[in-house]
Amino acid sequence: MRIDIVSIFPEYLAPLRLSLLGKAVRDGVIDLGVHDLRAFTHDRHRTVDGTPYGGGAGMVMRPEPWGEALDSIMESGDSGVRPTLLVPTPAGRPFDQRLAHELAERPWLIFACGRYEGIDQRVIDEYAERAEVIPFSLGDYVLNGGEVAALAVTEAVGRLLPGVVGNPESLVEESHSDGLLEYPVYTKPPLWRGREVPAVLLGGDHGAITRWRTEQSMIRTARTRPDLLHPSQGLTVPGLEDAE
Ligand code: SAM
Repeated sequence: MRIDIVSIFPEYLAPLRLSLLGKAVRDGVIDLGVHDLRAFTHDRHRTVDGTPYGGGAGMVMRPEPWGEALDSIMESGDSGVRPTLLVPTPAGRPFDQRLAHELAERPWLIFACGRYEGIDQRVIDEYAERAEVIPFSLGDYVLNGGEVAALAVTEAVGRLLPGVVGNPESLVEESHSDGLLEYPVYTKPPLWRGREVPAVLLGGDHGAITRWRTEQSMIRTARTRPDLLHPSQGLTVPGLEDAE
């Protein structure tokens, strides 16, 4: 998989060279490119922002450097491969394990990491013609920039690629893999500070262990994330069904 990340803080993406993802990059499983948006400016101050049309607080990222950066990255790739342009924004589709699995099937991801009040909307509209564009949100809170979101998504997607996680079975039983949160886990010693490991896990009865784990997953999910057990039926907005 090819992954390109554009940011005004390319150093922010350095952790992608560590640990399992770093190994995937060194082994060629992930072809990673990190690009400095300011390299695509032409003025002395390397300007990437401007005041918002219509007024308001903060600055907006100008479209020209984004256009040059994304053109240059897209033109460097195989013209037969349609990239997926991921735009971190609190106004995007919530990122979850389902989207991670979808993205793990894509050949080429490009992240456009916004800062300030975000990127001029025309950039997102422009590239919808040349790429699959997915504005996504890491959660219902506001970060200073898209870099942390790009790190999180790259890690969540990268670990689904074949060969990245040593034991692929560990991906199967994880939280969110079956719609539930994972059961509690224990290791040695069997007694620590007066706290025992649940006896069923020490008994060697694999059927009983599976039943206990399923029950614990259900209890934990019901307590912590009841919305996963009873997802809302979706809100309807009057008039929106008919809108284009
Ligand atoms: N004015 C924007 C709004 O209210 O939607 C927030 C801009 S935020 C300060 C700057 C940048 O951080 C965004 O363009 C986006 O790239 C990133 N960002 C902030 N919160 C995010 C989130 N929850 N998920 C993904 N990206 C986020």
